Amino acid sequence: MSLNIVVLAKQVPDTRNVGKDAMKADGTINRAALPAIFNPEDLNALEQALRLKDAHPGSTVTLLTMGPGRAAEILREGLFRGADNGYLLTDRAFAGADTLATSYALATAIRKIGTFDIIIGGRQAIDGDTAQVGPQVAEKLGLTQITYTEEIVKVDEASRRIVAKRHIDGGVETVEGPLPIVLTVNGSAAPCRPRNAKLVQKYKRALGAQEKAALKGEGEPLAYADLYEKRPYLNLVEWSVADVEGDLKQCGLSGSPTKVKAIENISFQAKESRTLTGSDQEVEALIVELLANHTIG
Ligand SMILES: Cc1cc2nc3c(=O)[nH]c(=O)nc-3n(C[C@H](O)[C@H](O)[C@H](O)COP(=O)(O)OP(=O)(O)OC[C@H]3O[C@@H](n4cnc5c(N)ncnc54)[C@H](O)[C@@H]3O)c2cc1C
Repeated sequence: MSLNIVVLAKQVPDTRNVGKDAMKADGTINRAALPAIFNPEDLNALEQALRLKDAHPGSTVTLLTMGPGRAAEILREGLFRGADNGYLLTDRAFAGADTLATSYALATAIRKIGTFDIIIGGRQAIDGDTAQVGPQVAEKLGLTQITYTEEIVKVDEASRRIVAKRHIDGGVETVEGPLPIVLTVNGSAAPCRPRNAKLVQKYKRALGAQEKAALKGEGEPLAYADLYEKRPYLNLVEWSVADVEGDLKQCGLSGSPTKVKAIENISFQAKESRTLTGSDQEVEALIVELLANHTIG
């Protein structure tokens, strides 16, 4: 049985080094100021998808990412590791989306993809950190969801059901659900396989329309321009709101009840550290203090 698997992958600012110009005045992220990376847990999701493809010959792994033109980088990275194709959902109208508007846009694009058995994404993005988009996409598509997935155990052909292990407080739970289904994957799941040298060779010149336009804009002739005709897979597909027949009112800032007010970088100062002997009294006194100053509880 072959499976149609859609991987939700987000390009995120590398929030490990947020500088003072990280935020624009309107509370949205100044993406140009931060290096962009493949959201770590989405790489774990991609690995689970590729393992299913290995186990079910004929399956396809399709990447779906919503972001600015440079998010085409996410599609290339996925193709280098074994994905079959991908779509970049990109339109000014998607800008500033909160999780509700993001999941609306992704669900609308998934409907346009049409055939899907498994939609798999990371548990959480390292910038918004809400872990809301996966479950919201499932709700918008009316699908069962398995979150905090640690490992996909099997997909049963006859019953079209999936068995997965998920992390819960204090242990691991084995659950089962019907296809089509939405899964979110933890960072403690298997790491993603590295790039495949042959696939890097094959897709290294793959570009989205905005990337090509940007190159032309800089007066740079498109290298190997004829290749894009001969090898259609080098033309990464971009979808606008109109392409996915989206409702503008539910997209971007206008579709977002949540507005990010501000982001600030918090770094703990060394002077706050204290060495304890570990005696019960001392530990108890510390807990009372941390409760009193609302650091915990
Ligand atoms: C500091 C900060 C705080 C924020 N707080 C909130 C908030 O409280 N509420 C709110 O509604 N919005 C919030 N946002 C906006 C939120 O980041 C965006 O809506 C974002 O597009 C989705 O939410 P998330 O980053 O939390 O993703 P999560 O819900 O954590 O993402 C889970 C998974 O969904 C998939 N996914 C998410 N975004 C995309 C995408 N663009 N393309 C493809 N797959 C994707 C990925 O697989 C990802 O691993 C915040 C943004 C920032 C920067």
